[in-house]
Amino acid sequence: MASSHHKLVIIGSGPAGLTAALYAARASLEPVVVEGIQPGGQLTITTEVENYPGFPQGIMGPELMDQFRSQAHRFGATSVYKNITRVELQSRPFRLQADDEEYTAEAVIVATGASAKLLGLLSEKEYMGYGVSACATCDGFFFKGLEVVVVGGGDTAIEEATFLTKFATKVSIVHRRDELRASKIMQEKARKNPKIAFVWDSVVEEILGKTENGKKSVTGVRLKNVKTGKPTMLKADGVFMGIGHKPNTDLFEGILEMDPNGYLVIQKGSTRTNIPGVFAAGDVADSVYRQAVTAAGTGCMAAIDAERWLESQHD
Ligand code: FAD
Ligand code: NAP
Repeated sequence: MASSHHKLVIIGSGPAGLTAALYAARASLEPVVVEGIQPGGQLTITTEVENYPGFPQGIMGPELMDQFRSQAHRFGATSVYKNITRVELQSRPFRLQADDEEYTAEAVIVATGASAKLLGLLSEKEYMGYGVSACATCDGFFFKGLEVVVVGGGDTAIEEATFLTKFATKVSIVHRRDELRASKIMQEKARKNPKIAFVWDSVVEEILGKTENGKKSVTGVRLKNVKTGKPTMLKADGVFMGIGHKPNTDLFEGILEMDPNGYLVIQKGSTRTNIPGVFAAGDVADSVYRQAVTAAGTGCMAAIDAERWLESQHD
């Protein structure tokens, strides 16, 4: 198996990983970014990003991530288009395996992100970024004066639905049971909101849409009542998946400290994990904000933390 040694290996190439690469490259750490199965991360599956500072007219997600990568490469970071399948972080140098290749590293930044849970429908994939979203903070603004559906019954769904009432004229929460999982206080707030309607005991079977002048858009959802089996149509201009997120941390099970939801635990005010020399940045360690700009910010922090830690090892 081919093996190469590096001062710093960054796992993940979203805003966190590529910002860490930029800062680490400028600190002469010659970082290697293992890009994983989604080079550029979650923003590569969306269209317009309107809230990344510095782009007043907005920018397409994939283009933004190409720019992140170019900027990091300009200062000497390199990318490998592989997926890490096994890690050994208990002894140094750290060992990371990507199928037929092994990387050893003096320091590691984990920036493997989190994935919104999706329903797994083909139509959901087809309209992702064209009316289907998993992030109200990111895309809510596009639904000003329109009607939307939110799927789910937990705190995420209720929070997303409540936020969307700032823009949408009507928000229908479609939940598979007749009782919400969300905390009581969030439930009460939503029930009092005149723009929110609940569709109980129902699942989304299909997302309906159209293509006009080459542009795809959502027109509604086909629902099924799980108790009666009866199908119904619900008109909607957008569909938000609020069924939760899963941090991409399976690789680190039993190795890095995690919270009960599987997010990596970092020491307050830093990006240090429980293993000295291993740092975490972005959504993988953030169940609260989950934004490109916060991921980039913690990516910067991780590179600085890694640089200082590496320096301290040679004192
Ligand atoms: P991610 O972007 O999730 O990247 C994770 C990276 O880790 C990927 O490159 C992946 O390939 C890699 N990886 C995972 N496992 C492995 C492995 N085993 N080996 C190697 N690599 C691995 N935020 C905003 O601020 N504005 C928006 O408008 C916005 N719109 C969004 C639209 C959509 C549809 C989605 C899903 C999210 C949106 N977000 C938006 C949220 C934003 O994308 C995330 O907060 C941000 O991408 C998190 O960055 P990250 O670097 O932590 O991880
Ligand atoms: P969650 O609590 O696991 O809720 C997920 C919801 O989606 C549940 O209602 C579930 O239905 C539904 N669901 C899951 N898979 C589905 C599917 N395939 N089809 C249809 N519905 C599906 O997840 P979450 O809401 O993301 O919350 C995760 C954690 O973060 C919780 O601890 C929560 O309290 C916390 N959180 C807190 C806040 C806040 O306090 N402001 C905000 C967001 C999240 P069932 O109920 O039938 O299982």
